[in-house]
Amino acid sequence: LLQAPFLAKFYSTEASLQKVDSTTNSRDGGGYKGHDMLAPFTAGWQSTDLHPLVVEKSEGIYVYDINGKKYLDSLAGLWCTALGGNEQKLVAAATTQLNKLPFYHSFWNRTTKPSLDLAKELLETFTAAKMAKAFFTNSGSEANDSQVKLVWYYNNALGRPDKKKIIARAKSYHGSTLISASLSGLPALHQKFDLPAPFVLHTDCPHYWRYHLPGETEEEFSTRLANSLESLILKEGPETIAAFIAEPVMGAGGVIPPPATYFEKVQAVVKKYDILFIADEVICAFGRLGTMFGCDKYNIKPDLVSVAKALSSAYMPIGAIMMSPEVSDVIHFQSNKLGTFSHGFTNSGHPVPCAVAIEALKIYKEGNIPEQVKQVAPKFQDGLKAFSNSPIIGEIRGTGLILGTEFTDNKSPNDPFPPEWGIGAYFGAQCEKHGMLVRVAGDNIMMSPPLIITPEEIDELISIYGKALEATEERVN
Ligand code: PLP
Repeated sequence: LLQAPFLAKFYSTEASLQKVDSTTNSRDGGGYKGHDMLAPFTAGWQSTDLHPLVVEKSEGIYVYDINGKKYLDSLAGLWCTALGGNEQKLVAAATTQLNKLPFYHSFWNRTTKPSLDLAKELLETFTAAKMAKAFFTNSGSEANDSQVKLVWYYNNALGRPDKKKIIARAKSYHGSTLISASLSGLPALHQKFDLPAPFVLHTDCPHYWRYHLPGETEEEFSTRLANSLESLILKEGPETIAAFIAEPVMGAGGVIPPPATYFEKVQAVVKKYDILFIADEVICAFGRLGTMFGCDKYNIKPDLVSVAKALSSAYMPIGAIMMSPEVSDVIHFQSNKLGTFSHGFTNSGHPVPCAVAIEALKIYKEGNIPEQVKQVAPKFQDGLKAFSNSPIIGEIRGTGLILGTEFTDNKSPNDPFPPEWGIGAYFGAQCEKHGMLVRVAGDNIMMSPPLIITPEEIDELISIYGKALEATEERVN
């Protein structure tokens, strides 16, 4: 359908592909070109060759760069600033706590009030299944790392030393520490890092559009994936599989909501083989899908839950895991036997992020943020999905306030554009030019705006998306 040899000529390597950025906008990094930071998830050349986007200030759903240019932050930072950029109640919670007690730890039965209060509040907020204890981390990656350690500790306590493997899914994202990157099902996180670790197995990605067989319904697709999961468990030996980890809606892998009946079917399989279910709610928790948790939306009854990001609306770094009474009882038993539970971080339950998170939870609950998301989500979803008929879009998918766009040729998952055309990067650069930041991963575009976005701001987001799409279509044709 589409011929763009001229693009191939210009953008023939991965590095030059990203030059779409510099050729299509007038970024001025304010003197920070060639900076000294090894930036996360940034190509090495970018720190020496291109101007970074230096963000200086935020206000509601907008951020401003060092030159004062305003951008609608359609990814809420990194799927995290749920309450936008200047929620004064969160700032006040942090400063009050900083003035009173800027730090104390939670080791050896010494702790602080904010950490105890947040644990209680968090357990009460999660209602999809009973949770008995919360453990605090600094990030989502540490939460998922801690999950694996807990699950191993649990199985050792139960006298099942062989039950240690973890099943995750292709295209999942669970973080970037050694274990959480291993759990992640994205090849870029493994390549040249000697990952994944051998105890991690990956099962199918539940992306119906991309992977269903001709004539297969969503329900049939889910049945096939649940059967495939069961085959993997039987092949490895159920006595070797400790846990299954899943994001309710896959985020960084391209925004992939589960197909109909998927979680019902995979939960039945893991339960049958006494395998713990870890819900990675790092993106979905606190209203993103129009429910307080992703587990509420998909009727997931996990044994363990990971949260981070929106827990403090990212005003302070914090993550947490919650565990069921069954898991926490075994962990207590084992710890008592050993004399201590030897896991934790200096900043586990740090009083400042905990104070901020208590305030954030209060806003989510009292402001009924999940309901607010439910109200505005149709405008966001329908408004953007109306672009689905574009000849360069394969699929637009999402739910609540999370959405992914995948550019492909011929509307087919099997006809990707040549990567060197840089379609996604060009679209992203056009959004930036028109004052909006999106997440670009190859030809996937991801958006998850702050949960406080108004209908008028959604109109603006859709309008910029439309302009960027039009420019991208013209460029390709
Ligand atoms: N889990 C999911 C689902 C995520 O999306 C992320 C981050 O994007 C993580 C875990 C890792 O969180 P962090 O970056 O806070 O370590």
